[in-house]
Amino acid sequence: MTKVAVLGAAGRMGRTACEAIKADADLELATVVDPAAVGESICHTTVSSRIAGLAETGVAVAVDFTHHQAALGNLRWLAEHKVHAVVGTTGFSAAELEEIGSWFDPPAQPNCIIAPNFAISAVLMMRFAELAAPHFASAEIIELHHQHKIDAPSGTALATLHRMEQASQDWHADPTTQETLPGARGGVGEHGVRVHSVRAEGLIAHQEVILGGPGQSLRIQQDSYDRQSFMPGMLLAVKRVAQTPGLTIGLDSLLGV
Ligand code: NAD
Repeated sequence: MTKVAVLGAAGRMGRTACEAIKADADLELATVVDPAAVGESICHTTVSSRIAGLAETGVAVAVDFTHHQAALGNLRWLAEHKVHAVVGTTGFSAAELEEIGSWFDPPAQPNCIIAPNFAISAVLMMRFAELAAPHFASAEIIELHHQHKIDAPSGTALATLHRMEQASQDWHADPTTQETLPGARGGVGEHGVRVHSVRAEGLIAHQEVILGGPGQSLRIQQDSYDRQSFMPGMLLAVKRVAQTPGLTIGLDSLLGV
């Protein structure tokens, strides 16, 4: 059985991750860490305050669902203490990802998998959008999230945008000459693909990619209706991280797409 720790265990994602790990016959939920809930019991495991406590627990893999700055500190500690990391926390810049890569530099162990979206449907949606991009002249991305999300656009929308614009730079110019309500045309990528962010109570995480060509359109839609949608991808990463050298971004290579 692989011993797993959850960092950010008292958060929305952390609690769901604890339940999924506890229910998996191959994994043992050994330690849970969250400074906001010290002493509380989550999945029959007492919450500790600091990652430093992990050193004595024999944990092989730590799952991080915290906040961007906290995750950076956690990752440095995990790299130094030879604990594999599986990270769901979002918001890392390209420079930060490069620095994290230097901490998890093969052939030295441990390894790290960072997946801004663990939903397998979202991983496939991004791949399908990237494959479709060179065959169309117009594209717009609409991402929709719950009312507590503080950043816009979502990390998934940004990743989709970058992948589509890498696959094609040949997009129609925007026809709009009069934007009566500022912002109505959304954000725009380097090569002209537009992104729109919707925030509303009742939503979890959703995205639609609309591609247009002569007399036709393709709509790729992905919906996470509940936090369970992230668990199969997270569990896959936890089970594979020890055999996945260095830093891996996204689940594509684990899924073979
Ligand atoms: P949340 O605010 O509910 O939970 C974060 C928790 O981290 C809090 O309980 C906080 O006390 C704790 N925390 C802060 N610093 C810590 C530290 N140093 N050590 C341990 N715990 C610490 O947030 P959430 O909704 O659970 O989301 C967490 C992260 O996961 C966000 O970055 C979010 O964007 C991301 N997310 C990723 C996916 C995915 O599929 N990868 C899906 C949903 C959300």
